[in-house]
Amino acid sequence: MIIRGATIAQLQSALREWQAEDPGARNVTFRDIRTLNTRGDRVRFTLKVRDSRAEYASVTGRHIPSACWHAHGHYFDYIFAALPDATIRASDPATPTLTVTDHWRDYRRGSMMYPYMASESCDC
Ligand SMILES: [Zn+2]
Repeated sequence: MIIRGATIAQLQSALREWQAEDPGARNVTFRDIRTLNTRGDRVRFTLKVRDSRAEYASVTGRHIPSACWHAHGHYFDYIFAALPDATIRASDPATPTLTVTDHWRDYRRGSMMYPYMASESCDC
């Protein structure tokens, strides 16, 4: 996903704050984080989990090292608490931009035959 209005240092700080208050969040880390503009406030990043069988792992039939919908929601809480004007765009073009007021919005995943909500694809 791509965030506007936050630097890498601010994103790392938000993750540390969440991890300080929620021990389970220590399973969450960045897979890829890099700046996209010269000002440094447009950043592409992905959240992953260290252990795909521990807290905040996304489970979609098999255990993959992706962070679940709840991990993203909690993490975004910390980002928006510090940076209320930031906006986050998911990699999926169908997902609209997330803001301080709507970053917990659930969405459909899966297939036509086996649809499920993003919030259902984990053990949270
Ligand atoms: Zn979850």
